[in-house]
Amino acid sequence: MAVKIKAVQIEKPEVLKIIEMDKPSIDEKNNVLVKIKASGICGSDVGIYHGTNAAATYPRVIGHEIVGEVVETGFGASKVKVGDRVIIDQVTACGHCYACRIGRPNVCQHLAVRGDHIDGGYREYMAVPYTDCYILPDFLRYEDAVLIEPTTIAVQACSRAELKAEDELLILGSGALGSRMLSIARLYGCRIIVADVVDEKLAEARENGADYTINLLKENIVEKCKEYTTDGYGPTVSIDCACTKDSLGTLLEVTGNAGRVITMGFSVAPTEVTQFKITSKELDVRGSRLQNRKFQEVIDLVNSGKVDLDHKISHTFKFTDAQKAFDFNDTHDPSIRKIVLTMD
Ligand code: MN
Ligand code: ZN
Repeated sequence: MAVKIKAVQIEKPEVLKIIEMDKPSIDEKNNVLVKIKASGICGSDVGIYHGTNAAATYPRVIGHEIVGEVVETGFGASKVKVGDRVIIDQVTACGHCYACRIGRPNVCQHLAVRGDHIDGGYREYMAVPYTDCYILPDFLRYEDAVLIEPTTIAVQACSRAELKAEDELLILGSGALGSRMLSIARLYGCRIIVADVVDEKLAEARENGADYTINLLKENIVEKCKEYTTDGYGPTVSIDCACTKDSLGTLLEVTGNAGRVITMGFSVAPTEVTQFKITSKELDVRGSRLQNRKFQEVIDLVNSGKVDLDHKISHTFKFTDAQKAFDFNDTHDPSIRKIVLTMD
């Protein structure tokens, strides 16, 4: 009889179950068996749970911020060995379509994202190709190492934005994604404005390198963006880390001429935007999805001390208590920065 493992499955929107599934075994393609140690809860996981993530399919074992220990390797798994601590790339792609051919597998036509379209990391074991495993910095705890994944998302967005030192950047939203964005954007040396609705998060953003902050509930973002940029020009780059229904309209409004607007949300709620804002300012509106092989870059930044991921998570739950963790996340308690599920 096959050995069973436990997993957290979203059977359908709003229905979270702890299920038993067959323990995966390695084969020619998935030649590394990883004992999962921790998996982060991301906004997109919450979206899959609540049925607001348009990309997901059900039923699904979710979780895409996946770290663990290599416990078995098969033929050809040259880059990793038993005992290695690794993070797993969530992107799997066909390798043949237009996006893949031009080097953008993160938007492959047949994209299958772990924890989204195929089963992810809220379980005890996964078998994956060795090419999807990246060695964790030695000094980083597993719980903290899950933050490498959201940091890759930030690296991807800054790369899509073609961020440069002379840019004046607006980061809309200072939650888990926004704070990761700030940690990467500050390395470019550009001026950074962070906007949010929570004063504590804005104070943290200033401590972590934001030059200016805007409280969206108390201040007018259009006026403040003019005030905080050279000659009232407005941000030359704006990145949506809030991903609310109105964020895109706000960013089109505040971004200066010839600027770049980066969207990251997955909402399908219609929102009114006018062509005039884009055409008259000749804005580049670009999506940034997942990440395109950015794990090693982030791990190098962590190893060199340029990015600090130590003790940035706020809460951990055992993965079998995932329901409690998602319920707690729904309280929007102001202490929440990052919730991590652990498997030990
Ligand atoms: Mn994530
Ligand atoms: Zn493809």
